[in-house]
Amino acid sequence: MGTVILGSGIAGISAGYHLEKSGEPAVIYEKNNDWGGLCGNFTINGFRFDKFVHFSFAPDEYTANIFKESVEMLEHVPFPSNYYKGIWLRHPAQNNLAPLPSDEKTEIIYDFVNRIEKPVDEIQDYGEWLRVQYGNYFAENFPYKYTRKYWGVEPEELETKWIGQRMYTPDLKQVLKGAFETQDECFYYSKVMKYPKKGGFRSILNKCREGLDIRFNKEVVKINPQEKTVTFKDGTSAKYSRLISTLPLPEIIKMLDNVPQDVKSAAENLMFTSGYMVSLGFNRPDVAKYLWFYIYDEDILTARVYSPNLKSPDNVPEGCSSLQAEIFFANRGGADIDITPRTRNAIGKTANSTGALALRERDGERGQNPLSGEEILEHTIEKLVGMGLFKEDDIVVKDIRFEKYANIIFDKDIYKNRKIVLDYIEGTGIESIGRFGRWEYFWTHQAFEDGRKVCNTPVNLRGENL
Ligand SMILES: Cc1cc2nc3c(=O)[nH]c(=O)nc-3n(C[C@H](O)[C@H](O)[C@H](O)COP(=O)(O)OP(=O)(O)OC[C@H]3O[C@@H](n4cnc5c(N)ncnc54)[C@H](O)[C@@H]3O)c2cc1C
Repeated sequence: MGTVILGSGIAGISAGYHLEKSGEPAVIYEKNNDWGGLCGNFTINGFRFDKFVHFSFAPDEYTANIFKESVEMLEHVPFPSNYYKGIWLRHPAQNNLAPLPSDEKTEIIYDFVNRIEKPVDEIQDYGEWLRVQYGNYFAENFPYKYTRKYWGVEPEELETKWIGQRMYTPDLKQVLKGAFETQDECFYYSKVMKYPKKGGFRSILNKCREGLDIRFNKEVVKINPQEKTVTFKDGTSAKYSRLISTLPLPEIIKMLDNVPQDVKSAAENLMFTSGYMVSLGFNRPDVAKYLWFYIYDEDILTARVYSPNLKSPDNVPEGCSSLQAEIFFANRGGADIDITPRTRNAIGKTANSTGALALRERDGERGQNPLSGEEILEHTIEKLVGMGLFKEDDIVVKDIRFEKYANIIFDKDIYKNRKIVLDYIEGTGIESIGRFGRWEYFWTHQAFEDGRKVCNTPVNLRGENL
């Protein structure tokens, strides 16, 4: 009997590493056959793909040092791009309107100048926040559309505390300047994005992962806090004296017996996005032009596309390039299926509103069934070819994968529901950490720090015990 950690994502590995250092070795149980969780990757015919776009911008020296000691890091200045009605605009779009037709620039600037003014603490929801920051025309045509694609909900359904530094708020001079000429300034919230030279994003954990006892293909299906036992899908079980979990809150609640109805309901109403990754490898070196770009057009399901080979050439065979497109849908803790009916309707609507008939008709035939992965893959390739990024003949690798838990959705009930669930889990003695264990908008460095916190031994900046 000893300490057990559930999940070998960055939070679980950080917890295991820091506990080990403080003399409390733990066993980590992971449902997959490899470590890394969302920081993980997969390789097909020499093309390596992370699970969604990942860069490190750890601001604290301790975490940044551990990542640096794990692997040599490349540094990128982020100049993402935006695709809007066939036009490419630098990011953030509102500061780089120059390529747009003058009628549309006029609408955007007119509405920006005449936008409603309201103190931030009186703003009701994200929709209103967008109108106050950007003006109606830009809000409705850029972030509103992106919100539907990235978060799978209407902006009015989101609260605003999660925004922080994530959204850029321009001033009039910048908007005017960018309407006449492309701006070279980097306006992104992090000025340097780091990425391992070798081994994909998860290599930031090489140092911490070494020597940890990680048991793979161990999917937890039941937890009994009274008997201090976890049971796995393969029928085996393990006893613990201390249990640290990085598993998503709605999943943990399903694993416990006799959970009160109000707690179950709260867990069922926690919202999150699920995501598909469409990964493409090309037999040409020059397909990827941008580290990543956003797509606003709603007839194209993917919200964001990035280039693994621009992150690091180590991610592709020589002379090749690659892209990964991200497609997200809203989901709820209570859904038995991976995608909610509401989302299926949204997909239907997206296809409908743009006349993507093939998709709509096939979706209609299957009634409430969602688009299949194969259909999403075909749709994405067709749309990216239509954008002129590559020809179908250039593709040598194509793949689609699904991650049930991608981002936490900050709907208006999140704080109430999260508190009910976390209070209950805390009462069972389970220590719940990480992005889905705290139900927080954590970046990797924050999930890492959360793992460190389970071990209360003070450490200095180099991680040595004091
Ligand atoms: C689209 C997207 C882009 C992102 N981009 C960035 C970025 O650029 N920079 C950045 O810093 N962060 C980024 N993040 C955030 C980052 O991925 C997370 O903060 C971090 O990876 C979360 O780590 P975690 O260990 O908390 O959770 P996870 O990585 O989800 O780890 C949980 C682990 O538990 C395992 N598990 C689940 N259920 C069971 C079970 N029943 N039994 C056993 N094991 C189980 C899972 O397989 C997984 O390995 C991004 C996230 C997304 C979705």
